[in-house]
Amino acid sequence: MHARRPIIIANWKLNGGIDLMCSSVASFIRKHYEAEIVVCPPYIYIRDMLNFLQHSEIRIGSQNVSKFESGAYTGETSAQMLKEAGCKFCLIGHSERRAMFRENNASCQIKVERALAHNLTPVLCIGENQEERENQITKDVLTRQLTEGLEGIDLTDKNICIAYEPVWAIGTGKAASPEIAQEVHQFIRHELAALYGEECAQGIRLLYGGSVNKTNAKQLLTQEDIDGLLVGGASLDPEHFLDICQQAT
Ligand code: PEP
Repeated sequence: MHARRPIIIANWKLNGGIDLMCSSVASFIRKHYEAEIVVCPPYIYIRDMLNFLQHSEIRIGSQNVSKFESGAYTGETSAQMLKEAGCKFCLIGHSERRAMFRENNASCQIKVERALAHNLTPVLCIGENQEERENQITKDVLTRQLTEGLEGIDLTDKNICIAYEPVWAIGTGKAASPEIAQEVHQFIRHELAALYGEECAQGIRLLYGGSVNKTNAKQLLTQEDIDGLLVGGASLDPEHFLDICQQAT
């Protein structure tokens, strides 16, 4: 059996500012966590967060990464730059990026490669939308997102996380039930085993995201194949997020 350390990731999206940064730092610092805790603020706050939290156990991640290394790509930030800044993680393929910024499995695949090449841990986000769930094609959608998003990538001795975020659960207050979430996570691990072998699949941390809060966190985290949580809205309240983090043991 693999002992996978629990992981809780905050995704601030395009929220927060100096106030949230300061109140989060004040809440998080000098606490010990059983789980690995990662905060993904907007790019502009990454350096300050890292400076403030340098003596804490909190890790910083980015919400995105460029698929380009360098060049004339206005507005982009590369994996190398994020690594140099001190990031350890980066979210890739969040459903909001897929829906609003034309990201797809092919662009995610390039981004995963870039992240791994620079020793950032990619958190590849996958998940079906409401219509796909109703049409009972959830598994097909996830298989495609995994096979295309990871195509040709060797994960041997690499750190990667997969976040299952059903689109219908994001920001809606309707989290997947622990049973549904576990069923899907088990399926994802099974698919990873088919692609990379059982040993590798057992070592990959799978996170659930979608309307997680302090009330439903524990039950989700106690499911066998759920190794962590990706938290959006509830991470904007530092005390609420802290409560979720402390439930991960
Ligand atoms: C997210 O967008 O990654 C997310 C999980 O959001 P929320 O927790 O607000 O549903």
